[in-house]
Amino acid sequence: MAKKSGVCAFCGRKASEVRLLIQGIDAEICDHCAEQAHLIVKEQFGEGNKNFNSKGLALKKPAEIKAFLDQYVIGQDEAKRTLAVAVYNHYKRISQKVEADEVEIEKSNIILVGETGTGKTLLARTIAKMLNVPFAIADATVLTEAGYVGEDVENILVKLLQAADYDVAATERGIVFIDEIDKIARKSDNPSITRDVSGEGVQQAMLKLLEGSIVNVPPQGGRKHPEQKMIAVNTKDILFIAGGAFDGIERLIAARKRTNVIGYGSGGNEALDKDNMLQYLSPADLKKYGLIPEIVGRLPIITHLNPLDAEALKRILIEPKNALVKQFQKLFAMDHINLVIKDEVLDFVVEKAIEFKVGARGLRSIMEAILNDAMFEMPSDINATELVIDRAYAEAKLEKSGLQKLHVGD
Ligand code: ADP
Repeated sequence: MAKKSGVCAFCGRKASEVRLLIQGIDAEICDHCAEQAHLIVKEQFGEGNKNFNSKGLALKKPAEIKAFLDQYVIGQDEAKRTLAVAVYNHYKRISQKVEADEVEIEKSNIILVGETGTGKTLLARTIAKMLNVPFAIADATVLTEAGYVGEDVENILVKLLQAADYDVAATERGIVFIDEIDKIARKSDNPSITRDVSGEGVQQAMLKLLEGSIVNVPPQGGRKHPEQKMIAVNTKDILFIAGGAFDGIERLIAARKRTNVIGYGSGGNEALDKDNMLQYLSPADLKKYGLIPEIVGRLPIITHLNPLDAEALKRILIEPKNALVKQFQKLFAMDHINLVIKDEVLDFVVEKAIEFKVGARGLRSIMEAILNDAMFEMPSDINATELVIDRAYAEAKLEKSGLQKLHVGD
């Protein structure tokens, strides 16, 4: 039985001096101390912790950063290691106090190249979870040169400002993930040079952000208009992580490798792993693809994500902290139903994801299609305690859902 002392074990105040005493096993805590404790916990581990001004930035070692990523992202070891080091160095850079004659660490922005659905955004989002610097994801697809329909490049910083609660100093140390950077590549066969809606002009504008300059940001976003008061943001210490699928870049890599081989005369025997050409990616390929050399120069750390094979897809279904299978099991558990998904079903789901060419992105819709009938019917069935899914069940439900038809003929 719990003993009552009538005083807070933390501050020693009596019950009469506080609003509330919460009873523990053999001690009590008052409302005030509980709140303090909550704040300490939040500061230590808090997601979305907005206190970006804390001086001692929690400096996690690269191996710790990678271990954290491992909980959520399957495979992609090389990209994880590169990101971990880059983020670690970013922290070191922003916490250094530069004396007059000291070596100043310059930032190294990163570019992640990999097929869609291989985990680029997931990596960026997961990194953001553990950071106490502001973080924003921006989509390069919508960016256009001033004067065209779309968004100004400066809008990339609006999101970061918002993530920092408009704290400019914090914004200036933040990290931005620019998704789909390949969409602003110059199209070499662009028929019109004057109407460069998504090409060199945007890249030139983006270059200013990447290099580090003072950028006037419209705090509410949108196109600049004279009435809006601008906020000046220095991008010198903002770390940019760019990501893109660069569809078709494999061909450029292969072509370069072939020319090299011919160029060196004899040789020519280097066995290329054709299923994963991205491992040979070099800055030259990004230029060839249509990024201007200055942009490529400002993204000095190049890393790639591997295509996900059947084994990786299966692991994605069950292993990550918030794996799909765990999510569905939780949903069913809320109706007191034990959901058992047989191993053969996981293989079936993976086969279909590969057949439909949807990669990891498609796993959820396939699972939804299989489980939808059960999720509709079972909550009303008061006697239901367990649902076991086998391959025959999964095949029948997927067939019925019509998802299959949607993808055949694509
Ligand atoms: P990308 O940005 O490369 O196009 P995403 O990161 O948005 O792809 O991936 C889409 C979804 O697929 C993610 O939300 C996640 O559920 C799953 N996914 C993709 N790659 C991985 C991975 N390596 N590990 C775990 N889940 C993944």
